[in-house]
Amino acid sequence: NKVLLETRFNNKTIRIVHGDITEENVDAIVNAANEYLKHGGGVAGAIVRKGGYVIQEESDKIGYVPTGSAAITGAGKLPAKFVIHAVGPVWKDGKSGEDEKLESAVFSSLKIADEKKLKSISFPAISAGIFGFPKERCAKILIETAVKFLEQNPNTTIEEIRFCLFDEPTLNAFVNEFSTRF
Ligand code: ADP
Repeated sequence: NKVLLETRFNNKTIRIVHGDITEENVDAIVNAANEYLKHGGGVAGAIVRKGGYVIQEESDKIGYVPTGSAAITGAGKLPAKFVIHAVGPVWKDGKSGEDEKLESAVFSSLKIADEKKLKSISFPAISAGIFGFPKERCAKILIETAVKFLEQNPNTTIEEIRFCLFDEPTLNAFVNEFSTRF
C-alpha cells in the first residue's frame, strides 16, 4: 500500500494510504461492520475472504454491537494482529445523529486499541460505502476524531493512525481534508 500523505501530531504519526486494508501491516485494522457483525460485502467481505472464516466465527460469539461502538477479534491469516469491528451509522438525512455516531464508532475503536496497548491502527472510510455517508463529511469526521483522541490521550500506546482508502473518489476526499488541516 502506498503512503500519500503524512504528518506528526502530538508525537504521533497520521498517514493517508491508498490501497487494500487487508494488506495493511499494522497491529489492528478497522472493519466497517454492521450491528450483527455479519461480514458480507464491502470491506467486511474482503476481510473475511482474506483473513478466513475464523473472523466471522469470533464475531458470531460477540453477536450484537450497537451503532457508534466497536468490538475486537483476531485477524486470522491477515498480516494485522486484530480486527476492530466499528459500526458506523447508515446515512439518512444528516440530521439523525449520523455525525455523532460516526465519531463515536471511530473513538471507540481507538479506545479499544489503546486498552489493548496497540501501536498502530488503520481505518477504512467507515459508513462511506454501502451505508451512504457523504465521503467528504466522512473524511472530516474520521480525521478530526483521530486528532481529538490524540489530544485527549497524550499517553496512548498508539503511535500511528492510518486511513487506508480503496477507491479514488474516497481517497480524494481524504487527501483534500488532510491537506486543508495539516
Ligand atoms: P459501510 O457499509 O460502512 O459503508 P463499506 O465496506 O461498504 O462499509 O465501505 C466502506 C469503505 O470501504 C468504502 O469507501 C469502500 O470503497 C471501502 N473498501 C472496500 N473494500 C476495501 C478494502 N479492501 N480496503 C479498504 N477499503 C475498502
